[in-house]
Amino acid sequence: MLNVARMRYKRVKWRGRLRAGVYRAAPMRYLRGMDNPASEPTGSQARATPKPPTPRIVYSPRYNIGFFGLERLHPFDSRKYGRAWKVLRERFGRGLDRYWVRPPRPVSRAELLQLHTPEYLQRLRDPKFVARVLEVPPVSRLPAWVTDRCVLRPMRRATMGTLLAAREAMDHGLAVNLSGGYHHASPDHGHGFSTYADVGLAVHTLRQSGRLGEKDKVVYVDLDAHQGNGVCRTFAGDSRVFIYDQYNEDIFPMDARAQRRIDCAVPLPFGCAEADYLAALRGRLPVFLNSVTRGGDVRLAVYNAGTDVFTDDRLGGINVSAAGVLERDRFVLQELTSRHIPTAVVLSGGYSAQSYKLVANMVAYVLETWGNSDEPAADIPKKFTSNDP
Ligand SMILES: [Zn+2]
Repeated sequence: MLNVARMRYKRVKWRGRLRAGVYRAAPMRYLRGMDNPASEPTGSQARATPKPPTPRIVYSPRYNIGFFGLERLHPFDSRKYGRAWKVLRERFGRGLDRYWVRPPRPVSRAELLQLHTPEYLQRLRDPKFVARVLEVPPVSRLPAWVTDRCVLRPMRRATMGTLLAAREAMDHGLAVNLSGGYHHASPDHGHGFSTYADVGLAVHTLRQSGRLGEKDKVVYVDLDAHQGNGVCRTFAGDSRVFIYDQYNEDIFPMDARAQRRIDCAVPLPFGCAEADYLAALRGRLPVFLNSVTRGGDVRLAVYNAGTDVFTDDRLGGINVSAAGVLERDRFVLQELTSRHIPTAVVLSGGYSAQSYKLVANMVAYVLETWGNSDEPAADIPKKFTSNDP
């Protein structure tokens, strides 16, 4: 079986070279599960009764960042969340409320300290440091209370959204946080518009609460155009998290140390065409998921659905059309849900005027595929309603 696995991997490698012109050293850790053909799904995955997901959409109008127009100095549309929500509201009307989960408050300092260092949180009190993280130099001249209230607080609420989406995914099979995905942030560092390590915090919180068991595996699929170096650094010592990362290798962050942590790396050249992008995804992701799920106990997937692979995006450097982005999202969500892996989606990057439409397309696909008007309306989980400031 090992030889079969190797042959299959060679085929993928060869196709990758042909189609995308790129190849990265074999990520053997995730292939180990293929050594034992007799292994069947065991543990919690085998025990779970497969049933279709009932989607949840996590969103707050307070996600949207605005500080006297300065946000327009960065190509990131920091109000894309609200714009996507407006499109969805026009499309689904009041029916959208059935799926809506509202993060009632930002994550607290005590919660952030579960993962972040006190020194890092202290640095975020300095507007000069925040300006560097956001890549918006004029922010350095704002009072600290303004950066906290207008920039960091919405991000802390979006971080709560990722925590909620992960928990809702485990309860209902599929949840989309209409923000989050700060994949360049790690416990002691932030850059690239990423302040809080929301995915790391969500996994840590679920482990602390016992929702994720000690041996339960987590799959992280990162299709943002930029490599998710913060997530890699956050999970550097956690072999229960399996990372698939498909990214433009010629742009930020070029973090060689973080790249070594990826279990299945799919680096792409600048200007990668849509056909090559989708061929790489179709060739690599199923093999990766098959090998990780073979031993069972995969209890959660987090899908970073960054839309900066869109052809008009100013930063991503990958040429995928709007239809191609939707096809990508459709493929990933089908691959995960067909394996009955509870999936939380986060938005991450997207730096074009069309980004919010791409997000709305993905959420509309989720609701039209898995939504059910007979489903009871979503509730705000009680645990998160206390201490609402
Ligand atoms: Zn990005």
